[in-house]
Amino acid sequence: MAQVIINELMKTYGTIKAVDNVSLSVNDGEFVALVGPSGCGKTTTLNLVAGLIPISSGDIIIGDRVVNDLDPKDRDIAMVFQNYALYPNKSVYKNLAFPLQMRKVPKEQIDKKVKDAARVLDITHLLERRPRELSGGQQQRVALGRALVRDPRVFLMDEPLSNLDAKLRVQMRSEIKRFHQDLGATIMYVTHDQLEAVTMADKMAVMNGGILQQYDSPAEVFANPVNMFVASFIGSPAMSLVPLEIATLDGAPALRSAEGWVLPLSAKNAQKITKASSPKVVLGARHSTIRLHKSSVPGSVPARVYTVEPTGDVTFIQAFVAGAIVNISVPPDISVAPDESMWVEFDQERMHLFDAETEIALR
Ligand code: ATP
Repeated sequence: MAQVIINELMKTYGTIKAVDNVSLSVNDGEFVALVGPSGCGKTTTLNLVAGLIPISSGDIIIGDRVVNDLDPKDRDIAMVFQNYALYPNKSVYKNLAFPLQMRKVPKEQIDKKVKDAARVLDITHLLERRPRELSGGQQQRVALGRALVRDPRVFLMDEPLSNLDAKLRVQMRSEIKRFHQDLGATIMYVTHDQLEAVTMADKMAVMNGGILQQYDSPAEVFANPVNMFVASFIGSPAMSLVPLEIATLDGAPALRSAEGWVLPLSAKNAQKITKASSPKVVLGARHSTIRLHKSSVPGSVPARVYTVEPTGDVTFIQAFVAGAIVNISVPPDISVAPDESMWVEFDQERMHLFDAETEIALR
């Protein structure tokens, strides 16, 4: 396997910057997920690494070779696509063998590689079937097998699970993770599903508008998002973002809402807001860090319940706080009704603060 280094990569289509100055390194054996909303440039980035489209500028290094001008077949990569791209009239065995036959690999070697890959992916019993005689999950395993037999230095996967139903997607998620661990494979994996990225990847590259926003472990991206985009994209339900203004309460730094209530701040948060570029800041809080009260407690602020969604284990509540919708999770036995006036308390230790002008996290 090999490392991949992307350096100041650009891809423009006329005035559109599909990939805008992206730099990142994927270590040997690492699983990196490229995530972001539709049109953020993740597929383009993967296709540039694969060599399927030419770069506008920058460098792509696979192993120790600059591959900018190499054909896809000379890059030692294997791609797995969303639509599997299997040959419908060939058996599974022939689907796996075909890329090796094209490369003139001796027959005995092909046989060994096909059987080894089939064993790893648990599809030995399916080798004589044709793709239409397989389930979606089995077809996906064959597509992985076809990548595996090539002994690539890097696996590039573009939304490989998006054609599967929800249950199978969760199962294949675990299988691809296992595949990565067993082989020590270097994998770049495109998905729009942040949960898939969080559960599978060693690192996540969060993109928006062609620009790499944050490149870190899922835990770090979740705990310390660098800006409001990452904060609201990663995590479900989304982090709540409440626009407020810097104020003082009894001479100490605080935050004031347009409605007039004032929230005192811990010393650490008071320190953070000194770095804001204007008096406008945005308070960010994940659902599990907000407490809901029937009456006012010290440090709580008023809220009006909007929706109540019981899910069994937990009930999700959306409430208006200072004009913003805030997501809160409560135990299922708490009775709350839409339009009820309540109070919410933010956990000061786990609260995020952002500069409203630059949208960058205040630290
Ligand atoms: P999705 O999740 O919808 O596949 P994505 O994050 O993979 O989205 P890309 O397909 O990489 O996004 O596209 C990034 C941007 O580049 C988009 O604005 C897209 O419209 C534009 N783009 C991609 N390919 C071309 C092309 N061949 N010509 C012009 N613009 C393109």
